[in-house]
Amino acid sequence: MSIKTLFARADEGLSARVEKGMASFFQAKDEVLAFEQETLIEQLSGLHLPKQAMSTQAYMDKLEQSILPVASHLISPTYLGHMTSPLPSFIPEIGRLVQTLNQNMVKLETSRGLSLLEKHLLGLMHRQFYANDESFYEACRADFSKTVGVFTSGGTMANITALWAAVHHARQVYPQAKKYAVIGSSLMHYSFDKAAALLGVELIKVGVNEKQCLLPDGVQHAIDTYQKTGGVVAAVVAVAGTTDFGSIDPLAEIACIAHQHHIHMHVDAAWGGAFIMSSDKAVLLSGIEHADTITLDGHKQMLMPIGTGMLFFKNPALSRAIMHTAPYAVRATSLDQGRFTIEGTRPANMLYLHACLHLLGLDGYDELFTIAMKNIQTMAAYIQKDPAFELLFTPTMNILAYRYIPPQFRGKVLSIKDNQSINLFNQTLQKAQRARGKSFVSRSLRPFAQYEGLPLVFLRVVMLNPLVTETHLRFVLEDQKNIAQGLRVD
Ligand SMILES: *Cc1c(COP(=O)(O)O)cnc(C)c1O
Repeated sequence: MSIKTLFARADEGLSARVEKGMASFFQAKDEVLAFEQETLIEQLSGLHLPKQAMSTQAYMDKLEQSILPVASHLISPTYLGHMTSPLPSFIPEIGRLVQTLNQNMVKLETSRGLSLLEKHLLGLMHRQFYANDESFYEACRADFSKTVGVFTSGGTMANITALWAAVHHARQVYPQAKKYAVIGSSLMHYSFDKAAALLGVELIKVGVNEKQCLLPDGVQHAIDTYQKTGGVVAAVVAVAGTTDFGSIDPLAEIACIAHQHHIHMHVDAAWGGAFIMSSDKAVLLSGIEHADTITLDGHKQMLMPIGTGMLFFKNPALSRAIMHTAPYAVRATSLDQGRFTIEGTRPANMLYLHACLHLLGLDGYDELFTIAMKNIQTMAAYIQKDPAFELLFTPTMNILAYRYIPPQFRGKVLSIKDNQSINLFNQTLQKAQRARGKSFVSRSLRPFAQYEGLPLVFLRVVMLNPLVTETHLRFVLEDQKNIAQGLRVD
């Protein structure tokens, strides 16, 4: 076979096989299929690259037999544990377009008009958060020396980019400082640990209250303490939708404290930021407009596929703090977006945003969030009225935290030792549920203020899939109770 035949035209046989493979993946068993980790590791032990090409049909056989069956069934309505949602059916089609065009968004020469579209979309989303007037966006359109935001591969990259800008700025303003730090809550996403390590700054974590929110007094205290030791606080981070609980830090108050001290305020709204498009839930995010930078993930609640993060600069001039250029391609005076991104070559993933905005519209997002919030409240109510469970966090957004209480611990005041037993039980229960594969919730471990800061293992539900109904919610809880009954934990 000549390599040229692979470029000739679409392989219809292959398209049909992919179609069939996907159909069987989704229909065979809509559950998180158990897989034998050891068997798979054994199977994946070959060390040789294939010398001869195989036919696409034979290759599809291989995928169907050994790879597709071990993928995660994110689309299952009883899979309620992680932040990756099923996607609307138009996404794979748009994906085909993105892959076929294979534009490189790093610079104008490799993406042409699509760079302008990207700039336009960033402006549209920026306006959702900051609501500047038309003249602001008019000026941005014509000004290529800075940007209102960047597309990234996800929230992690957006958070790192934000701190990069903030720390760089602080180092310019206070070049003599002994040390620099970033302050945020103990529930900050671990991307901030990565960012701090990369940038060589300290990360100071402040405790949260019983609502899992950052305390403004705690932030104030941390700033004062750090400054007294000769350090400069480069940024304060608030989270709008913590990964563990979906709790939202008091954005306006924290912005006020940060700005009194001339400190950069970043809001990590990777999870919660999408609510800005909701007609009745955007109010949860009030105060976000004071943030100097905002992270938003398209692949969390906006129904975009993985690889779609965004970062917005309140004042586009800040983007100049991280501007990097190269004489051969990404030129200073161009409108090459690669000047402001950590990533170089980058796909035209903004087309997914374009598609979602047009094919879902604000009404579509409204419906999505309304269903999710209704489902989470229904599930919270079930948990609350069942003595087998304890609701540990009343949902602010569409995430909830609870735990199973084994019969011997119900209706009594729990000692530290009791809680430790319950911790072990919940850990075992979650693993057993995952292994059984009929339903899934995730698990985390955090201190809880209502238990004097004792770390508790909890079960975590992330609700977004609009195909989830009350029947599914009941099934997940019943499944859990059934498994718990047969569980022996010592
Ligand atoms: C998911 C998440 C991130 C990280 O985003 P990735 O897209 O996974 O890199 C950061 N912060 C919060 C609050 C998140 O929920």
